Amino acid sequence: MNTETVKIDENNIDSRIIEKAGGIIKKGGLVAFPTETVYGLGGDALNPDSSKKIYAAKGRPSDNPLIVHIYRLEDLYKIVEEVPEKAGKIMDAFWPGPLTLIFKKKDIVPKETTGGLDTVAVRFPIHPTAMAFIEAAGGFVAAPSANLSGRPSPTLAKYVCEDLNGRVDMIIDGGNIPIGLESTIVDMTSEIPQILRPGFVSKEMLEEVIGEVGVDPTLLDVNCKDRPKAPGMRYRHYAPKADMTIVRGEGERVVAKINELGQNNKGCTVLCVREHESMYPGLNLKVVGSEKDNEEIAANLYKVLRECDDENVSVILSESFSDKGIGSAVMNRLIKAAGHKIMDV
Ligand code: AMP
Ligand code: MG
Repeated sequence: MNTETVKIDENNIDSRIIEKAGGIIKKGGLVAFPTETVYGLGGDALNPDSSKKIYAAKGRPSDNPLIVHIYRLEDLYKIVEEVPEKAGKIMDAFWPGPLTLIFKKKDIVPKETTGGLDTVAVRFPIHPTAMAFIEAAGGFVAAPSANLSGRPSPTLAKYVCEDLNGRVDMIIDGGNIPIGLESTIVDMTSEIPQILRPGFVSKEMLEEVIGEVGVDPTLLDVNCKDRPKAPGMRYRHYAPKADMTIVRGEGERVVAKINELGQNNKGCTVLCVREHESMYPGLNLKVVGSEKDNEEIAANLYKVLRECDDENVSVILSESFSDKGIGSAVMNRLIKAAGHKIMDV
């Protein structure tokens, strides 16, 4: 398949390109596009063959459901059975934005899109290019992250090309992505809504609007025997090629431990905060952001992991970062990237 790559400026959207991209989706094709979280790999959410194509292009297991993206609120009611009161409040507060909500689905949404489930995950993104594209595509775009299964989600179009060139019809290059981590997922089908995947919209932000919010226990305890409610959280996601260990604890002890491990492993790469840049003499470093700015760390994390792959890094030693606010999403992705290898000091 020939993949066409086009650039779009979100401040001056070229409607001819958007119409062409939308036409590809309506004909059953695939288009990768920017959103505020990461790049998405889009197909027609109401066409079972399109969903099958998405799984094939990503090499994704077909029991791992896709998120349906809409561009206006009224369309939600066409695809879900009911919108609980608490969901309405959350939608008022955070939609459009980096938050995915799970509802009971209507029959119009094929099981191919929901990985066989009776529920559907819906997101209403705020990125102008994404919104224009979803409208041109007919209003319902199924889109997982635009990476090959198991690789870090792409935050730049060049990473989408690396993974999906020849596998999709079009890639829309929208430049930099503001958030850099996937959306928060909240299951609205239970009385107490439950976070299935942490993201930019934190537990504290949700609780301010609706009171108690639960967290899928499998997110908090690696040894938990339950199956995660978001099927995608089962898989080893977000993985760099390198063998990666997180050193966790108080700052000075972390720095000392990484320096000690680094002496036996001069070829390793250290992921650290800017404030510690001068504390690892002789070791290869990648600064992920400032310890005072969790959003900067979130925006850079996947880029840094991809760079490690590009440079064929074989061992990564990472500092642990703050888990406050979006930090809980950062640590969730970091721990998965490390395959749960954590050294407490
Ligand atoms: P991705 O779009 O690649 O970030 O993956 C979508 C995530 O949403 C995966 O972790 C899925 O398991 C999760 N997801 C999508 N639909 C549902 C659903 N109906 N119930 C639970 N999790 C879902
Ligand atoms: Mg993904």
